[in-house]
Amino acid sequence: MGTTVKQFGMTVNGEAVYTKNTLPVINPANEEVIAQVPHADQNDLNHTVNAAKAASPAWAARSAEERAAKLEAFADAFYEQRDELARLFTLEMGRPLKGSLQEVIGSSKSCKMIAGQRLENEILEETEQHFVEKSYTPLGVAGLIVPWNFPVTLAIWKIAPALLTGNTIVMKPSPNTPLTALFLGKIAKDIFPAGVVNVVTGGNELGAWMTEHPGIDKISFTGSTATGKKVMQGAADNLKRITLELGGNDAAIVLEDADPKKFVEPVFWAAFRNTAQICIASKRLYVHENIYDEFLAELVNYAKTVNVGDGMDSDTMIGPVQNNMQFEKVKDLIEDAKSSGATIVCGGDVEDKPGYFIPITIVDNPAEDSRVVQEEAFGPILPVLKYHDYEDVIQRANDSIYGLAGSVWGEDLTFAKSIADRLETGTVWINEAHILSPKFPFGGHKHSGIGVEHSREGLAEYTNTKVVMMRKKYFFYKRGGRL
Ligand code: NAD
Repeated sequence: MGTTVKQFGMTVNGEAVYTKNTLPVINPANEEVIAQVPHADQNDLNHTVNAAKAASPAWAARSAEERAAKLEAFADAFYEQRDELARLFTLEMGRPLKGSLQEVIGSSKSCKMIAGQRLENEILEETEQHFVEKSYTPLGVAGLIVPWNFPVTLAIWKIAPALLTGNTIVMKPSPNTPLTALFLGKIAKDIFPAGVVNVVTGGNELGAWMTEHPGIDKISFTGSTATGKKVMQGAADNLKRITLELGGNDAAIVLEDADPKKFVEPVFWAAFRNTAQICIASKRLYVHENIYDEFLAELVNYAKTVNVGDGMDSDTMIGPVQNNMQFEKVKDLIEDAKSSGATIVCGGDVEDKPGYFIPITIVDNPAEDSRVVQEEAFGPILPVLKYHDYEDVIQRANDSIYGLAGSVWGEDLTFAKSIADRLETGTVWINEAHILSPKFPFGGHKHSGIGVEHSREGLAEYTNTKVVMMRKKYFFYKRGGRL
């Protein structure tokens, strides 16, 4: 085992908890085991949920201001430890160190922004005789299930709203990236009262147990659509509230008036940032036929300037794919594209060496019904597709079970907006991509999710909407009707 990673326990009821069984953590840049982390069983989960339940009434009774102050302190504390957190992030996830650090810093800011949000009570009616008020009460224990692609941001986007609204939490990271979550739990342990923040690690079965656990009142899940469906089924038995942020197959549409020289760089990063392991990455790039050849040539030229390598090397711009399963899946898609006769104009050949490295791979105008177009690759392979007219491209962009996000690129903003308005997604960007903020609701249409994160709507998903009605002047009733 590598010596560069300290061992972290789970955070349960304010204590560091270790288990007899452990799970290995693998560095995707060299496939070496860098740490062993706790492997929780069902008893560990029961104990954790009981602790979260016991801490719930006192935490819910605190004012939003008190809870927000704790979140602010938490944001400051993990910001202080940003270098170590970013190092763990790169070691377990593969992302270049600079990007990991940006994510940690951005997550600290997001945590503070969320801490500043409020779900104020609202008076719905006030007359001389009647008063109606709406408020938002905590649900109890929130189970937070996080994937591996943005292990810090996606954790904070759940931790902060769940706690702010008065819930206690049990968080489970992906077994592929548990170190950053355990480190966040260790920091939280010294800030929040015992039992308020709990972090448990284990295999995928731990997620399934959480969805079915009668002591958990809400599941906020980010991950694949296939797992999201299982979460929904598991949560049905005790009617848990669920928020599902799921997969996508986002279309980016480049309009005829887009100057390739100007647009290629942002379009490239919209597709390949974080080794294309982003739910909202552009996964199908549609380019108007009149600029297609020039755009594709510029895209390939730009791709050749981007270094793929170990995230710990300072000149790396794109790291390895995070895990072996994903690595095999992307390789399979490359082979499928090749065997179906598509032309690969960049990359396509995976070297036989340690680490899950896949070169930036661009496929020239494959068939619309090919796997590389239809499936969420979640890795650095991008189909570039030619279109002739706008009705056709809108129809093709919308012809997907997914509806997470999309983007439109071009000079005529009014026209670009008219296209954006017709895309069946939760978010559309025009001449930008991946801009997300606690200020704006974010969620998926169709099979890309249920509910939203961020904004008042996102906060409300961790609450019960409650209405109190009061008759201010009491009326006596007599037989035959009201007085
Ligand atoms: P995944 O679905 O395999 O795993 C996500 C989490 O669910 C992990 O913590 C995993 O351990 C847990 N899990 C696995 N089986 C479970 C079960 N039966 N019940 C409950 N939990 C279970 O996804 P992943 O491979 O970690 O992440 C990649 C996927 O996540 C992609 O599809 C991507 O598009 C999606 N994603 C979506 C968003 C979004 O906001 N919409 C953001 C990031 C990633």
